[in-house]
Amino acid sequence: MKIGFIGLGNMGSPMAANLVAAGHEVVGYDTVVRPEGITMATSSAAAARDADVVITMLPNGAILRIVASEVIPAMKPGAILLDCSTVDVEAAREVAANAVAAGLGALDAPVSGGIGGAGAGTLTFMVGGSAEAFDTAKPLFDIMGQKAVHCGPSGNGQAAKICNNMILGITMIGTCEAFALADKLGLDRQAMFDVVSTSSGYSWTMNAYCPAPGIGPQSPADNDYQPGFAADLMLKDLRLSQQAAEAADADTPLGLAATELYARFVEDEDGAGMDFSAMLPRFERRSRG
Ligand code: NAD
Repeated sequence: MKIGFIGLGNMGSPMAANLVAAGHEVVGYDTVVRPEGITMATSSAAAARDADVVITMLPNGAILRIVASEVIPAMKPGAILLDCSTVDVEAAREVAANAVAAGLGALDAPVSGGIGGAGAGTLTFMVGGSAEAFDTAKPLFDIMGQKAVHCGPSGNGQAAKICNNMILGITMIGTCEAFALADKLGLDRQAMFDVVSTSSGYSWTMNAYCPAPGIGPQSPADNDYQPGFAADLMLKDLRLSQQAAEAADADTPLGLAATELYARFVEDEDGAGMDFSAMLPRFERRSRG
């Protein structure tokens, strides 16, 4: 396929490189970076022209709206606009509606798996949009990822992503505060892990990504909390969850509390640039009240 790829940052560059390696013709555009091995265009419209699929991997919904307004008029009829960024549900739905009105296909397909998954081609895609567009893009998902789930109409990929990450943020906080409590009760961390990881308190954050250094499988905690999944990105996703909850009038008290806690951690404390599991040393240093 001919692919336009717009937004070649930490995630976009390795994803585009995997498409090139699989034999697709990729033309990229980014306002800042010029990665090696990818043919670059001089504008987003130029990268989108003639492409069968235009992939965007951008920082947020405001930038997606701008880029979409540039590429949609340039795309050939029947081509697909495939946004893999994490953005608000509203932006995803609006951009998709504009693309469909212009005779294009549209998919929102945010990912989980991070920079490591982007490089290894093992991302998971959560996809909203028509079944027809999903089927066309499926071979590309298979190159860039290991799993693609069709979640329903436009915006549902973003909905799945923020619901998943709201659970993840809440669960990480719960795991970290339980470790900090266990410390103060004199319970050994290894014993705590051995019990919880095989009891009803088990979770991905405890079993697969344990926030306590030296306990459980290798995780960012074992590397001075270098991300991994940065607390800043968790905060972005939690804020999107609260924006969506507000718009849908959904009651999400723990999602709200997790958003407020990660905001304090990243913006007022020392959480910026740390892995999101660095909540554990944060709790460790604190006392009640
Ligand atoms: P990044 O900031 O490294 O990359 C974004 C790129 O977009 C940058 O290179 C920037 O120059 C480019 N850009 C900005 N405005 C542009 C414009 N108008 N036209 C063309 N290019 C433009 O971010 P990233 O880490 O690659 O993340 C991309 C998206 O993926 C985000 O929405 C993020 O939330 C999501 N995501 C990231 C991770 C991760 O671990 N990094 C994991 C899952 C999802």
